[in-house]
Amino acid sequence: MEKLKIAGYWASSCGGCEIATLEIGDKILKLAEAADIVFWPALVDFKYHDVEQMVDNSIDVCLFNGAIQNSEHEHIAKLLRAKSKIMVAYGSCSYEGCIPGLANLTNREGIFHRAYIETPSTDNPNQTLPQTSYQMPEGKLTLPELYDTVKTLAQTVEVDYFVPGCPPVGKQTWAVLEAIVQGNLPPRGSVIGAGTRALCEECPKTRENKKVKAFYRPHEIIPDPEKCLLEQGLLCAGIATREGCGALCPRANMPCTGCYGPPEGVVDQGARFLSAVASILGVEDEKELSEEDVENLMSQIKDPVGTFYRYSLADSILRRARIK
Ligand code: SF4
Ligand code: SF4
Repeated sequence: MEKLKIAGYWASSCGGCEIATLEIGDKILKLAEAADIVFWPALVDFKYHDVEQMVDNSIDVCLFNGAIQNSEHEHIAKLLRAKSKIMVAYGSCSYEGCIPGLANLTNREGIFHRAYIETPSTDNPNQTLPQTSYQMPEGKLTLPELYDTVKTLAQTVEVDYFVPGCPPVGKQTWAVLEAIVQGNLPPRGSVIGAGTRALCEECPKTRENKKVKAFYRPHEIIPDPEKCLLEQGLLCAGIATREGCGALCPRANMPCTGCYGPPEGVVDQGARFLSAVASILGVEDEKELSEEDVENLMSQIKDPVGTFYRYSLADSILRRARIK
């Protein structure tokens, strides 16, 4: 049987998804029997020029991780799309924008100002900022252009499958690779390597439909390990997150932060989480909360965007902050 040709790419991301692919352990030998890597900058030394020479649709599957934050990411996303039969948004950054997507709270100017001028460890008396091109005596140097808005892969090119997770867990990665090798993939457009329901469905903790009187950050309390963390005032995103990781964080008594994205049918993960939190707010002996009570409870949530939209801001209905 002819071997599959697979490619991988790393755009705006931390690199964790690349490492996560290695979590398949010795199954990598099975993968090597079935597929050849034809482009994957983190693993093998092929150049963009090599991809440009390939015939369109000659790569069977491309696992693309990372959000689209600069002109190089966009160029390579379009190039790999043209060369690949199947394009997979692998991991939360390419699927939803993830942590790089929080850059949508500001713009390029704000990012440059913070990174190259404001930070206490920066020594930049001439306030030099990155340029897209600079003429040296030896020749012209160029850098990709950083965009004001971070986009998901699907906001840039057509995507066939989505693998959630920051990063995707090893067993799910193998399930996806096995399905690719065996040609056993669901309809295009599907989320693969995860279930469809909310994470609470695979969480072993007990829920008692309790109201929450106060919110805590994880370092502020030691929660009862048997009981639902959200009902103990820890902002666990399980209700607004897709099952698939095996409830890794709640099992370790840490709230889920939502990295598997929204469950099937939920358009906006942050809005779903916010509405779940609103529905459990309560103060003892009060049937209805006063506006003051609500304000008091909500003011205990220290980082609303990072709590409700940590992974999904770029893919949400809001998408980005409006900058005047
Ligand atoms: S909210 Fe969190 S702790 Fe509670 S059941 Fe859902 S996943 Fe488990
Ligand atoms: S519990 Fe939540 S944050 Fe933790 S790995 Fe699973 S989906 Fe991601």
